[in-house]
Parts: sequence; structure tokens; C-alpha cells
Amino acid sequence: MEKLILIKYGELTTKKANRKFFVKILYDNLKEKLSDLDVVIRRDLSRMYIEYNSDNEKEILNKLNQVFGIYTYQIAYKVKPDKEIISDTLKELIKEKTGTFKVETNRVDKNFEIDSLTFSRMMGAVILKSNQNLTVDVHNPDFIVNIEILNSCAYIFMDKYYGLGGYPVGSQKKAMCMLSGGIDSPVACYLALKRGIKIECVYFEAIPHTSLEARNKVIELTKVLTDYQASIKLHIVPFTKIQEAIYKNCKDDYVITIMRRMMYRIMERISHKYKAKAIVNGESIGQVASQTLTSMEVINSVTNIPVIRPVACLDKLEIMDLANKINTYNISILPYEDCCTVFVPKHPVINPDINVSIYEESKFDYETLISDAIYNINTLIIDKNYNDHSDLL
Ligand code: ATP
Ligand code: MG
Repeated sequence: MEKLILIKYGELTTKKANRKFFVKILYDNLKEKLSDLDVVIRRDLSRMYIEYNSDNEKEILNKLNQVFGIYTYQIAYKVKPDKEIISDTLKELIKEKTGTFKVETNRVDKNFEIDSLTFSRMMGAVILKSNQNLTVDVHNPDFIVNIEILNSCAYIFMDKYYGLGGYPVGSQKKAMCMLSGGIDSPVACYLALKRGIKIECVYFEAIPHTSLEARNKVIELTKVLTDYQASIKLHIVPFTKIQEAIYKNCKDDYVITIMRRMMYRIMERISHKYKAKAIVNGESIGQVASQTLTSMEVINSVTNIPVIRPVACLDKLEIMDLANKINTYNISILPYEDCCTVFVPKHPVINPDINVSIYEESKFDYETLISDAIYNINTLIIDKNYNDHSDLL
């Protein structure tokens, strides 16, 4: 009996016209994800099948849990579309099972001589007879035995696993993600990926005020994100001169507002430069002074491209839960200073005024500093195997 993994798409199915496009991207992503393993992937517009070597089953299933666009996956047993063969196979498959079940038959081949309902009942009886530990519950069964009868074969599948859902990465255009070493921004990146956005990350660093450990932390976070997008560009923006100019020239309570306006200006320019359609960041409403709605308005006003804030409306605890789930939390809590935390004033303004902001930043020539920073960006290409940090020095 041949074993296959059957994958069903999630929201893709609502995008009727684009289905082919989405399926192709999911197929390419899966192929890339499973490239080290001995698999054959076939696709049609409603599902995908993976033929595989059972030695790799566990590893394959783990990897499927990292691919967006998969709604459910199941191990399917492929047999001849023959009543005796199906019932023998069922007996074998339910040997170890306990609890309640229900049989659902889908007769795709209408020439099959028995109708779906009758066939389900017949197979239910076969199962009950061969395993005394099972009972039928058609309303709330512990598991469903699915039988799908096609022209040339039948599939039997039972245990259903839920994948990550979302859209396949790359089905949307690219966004530039502001990735700091904190808890929020990796989660924001993850949620952007979940909607199919392809990401590049941007880290603002202020050496020597921030350490190389802080940079390594961001690299490690990016590496975790390569579970979902095989290779991610990480742009490191030298931010020291801009930050020093802000501290030297601007009034204390406005330094964070202005620093963030500078970050946004840089983000917009590099988004154009690298043909990205949006900025993504980990801002969460009310979390800190720079994330009140008034602050957001004043900061956001320097850009014209969309700024997506996936965690804007989540509580910190909800963000932390997600960070734990995606394995970024333990890296994020390492204690290295970020450029935002190094120079935090005692009383940052909570309701900044746009005119004061413009006035304060007019005290130094930020345009030249911004151009220099962009010119000196250092771009790393991070994938699972990235471990060479020597180019940091
Ligand atoms: P925390 O998880 O502790 O809140 P944070 O990284 O979210 O840390 P914030 O000060 O809340 O820090 O910054 C809001 C958002 O701005 C971040 O989520 C991130 O997207 C972006 N950001 C802040 N500092 C940097 C930085 N040094 N480089 C890139 N992006 C940054
Ligand atoms: Mg934050």
C-alpha cells in the first residue's frame, strides 16, 4: 500500500481566479523546503500530494509545519478502488485505534457501484466488527475515516493535522521589516510572512553605543525566520551619526520621536531602492511613548508608503505567546542594548507636536546623514546555514 501526504490549501480556495498562481508558489516553496529529502510533489488546484520515503516522515511533517498556505495535511493510503481492498486496508489501519469515529466517503468516480452513504455505513460496520474498542459517533467523533474514491485509485486518510494557514510566502510582493532585537518585531515579521509577504529585514545599529552581540542577536532572529522564508536579506544601517546628531541638537523629550522619524525616512527610501511595497514593524499601540496614536501620526507623517503593524492591536502577553511559539522569545530576551534603548530620555514626549518635531530636526542636516547611512548599508544574506559572523568586524 502506497503512503502519501495529502495537503489541502486554506484561504487560497477563496481566491478562485488566482488559484493557479497561489498553488504554483506553494508548490515552489514546498519543493525548496523539502529539497534535501527524497520526495515527489504533485499538485492540482485543490490539493497537493507528496510521495515520500517513510524514513523521512517525521522530518517532512515537521517541515510542513513551517510552510504558510497549508491548511491541513494528512497521511493518505492509496489503494485500488475496490471494496474488498478498501475494507482490508481499513481493518489494518484502525487496529490500534480507540474512541469514537465516523466514516465519510466521497465518491468522485460516480461509476463506483455503491453510493457514498451506503459505502460509509458498510465500512463503518467493517471497522466496528474488527475493533471492539471503537464506537460510532456521527456528531462528534474523535476521528473521521475519510474514503475518497477516484477513477483509478482510492485514498483513505484519518488523522488530520492543521498547518499554519495563511498564504504562501511570495504570493504578495515584498516589504521591508524593521527588525530590532526586541520581542515584538520578529513576531511582526512572522505575521507579515503569514499573509504571503516576502520580507527583507532592516536593522538600525549604533556601534559603539550598541554591541556586536546586539547585531548577532538580530542575525539569530533572522535565522529563525528562515524557517518560513528560505533566505532573508538583512540590511544593517549604520545609525550612529544620526543618533549622535539628534542627541546633540534636539531637545531631550523629542529625541525618540525624531529618531523614529529618521528611521521611517530611511525605511521609505530603501523600500523604493529595493522595490518593496510597504514597511512592516513591531509597533504596538500604547506600548511606549513613541507608540501612542499621536506619536504614530507624527512619526508616520514622514512617509507615503504603507506601514503595516501586525502586532499593533495585540497585548504584550499575546505577542510573547507568539514569540514563544515561533522560537524567537528566548533570543529576544537576551540582554543586549538596542539603539532605541541606549539613549532613552527620562520623559519622552507622549503627545508630540508635529511643528515642534519639524523645528527640532531642522537644527541639523539630516538629509546628508541619511544619504550617508543608506550608502553605507551592509547587507547580509541569511539562511539556515549562515554562521559566518566574521564580516561583522
Ligand atoms: P520590544 O519588543 O522590547 O518592544 P521593540 O524592538 O519592539 O522591542 P520598540 O522600541 O517597541 O522596540 O520599537 C518599535 C518597533 O520599531 C520595533 O518593533 C521594530 O520594528 C522597530 N525598531 C526599533 N528599533 C529598531 C532597530 N534598532 N532596528 C530596526 N527596527 C527597529
Ligand atoms: Mg515594542
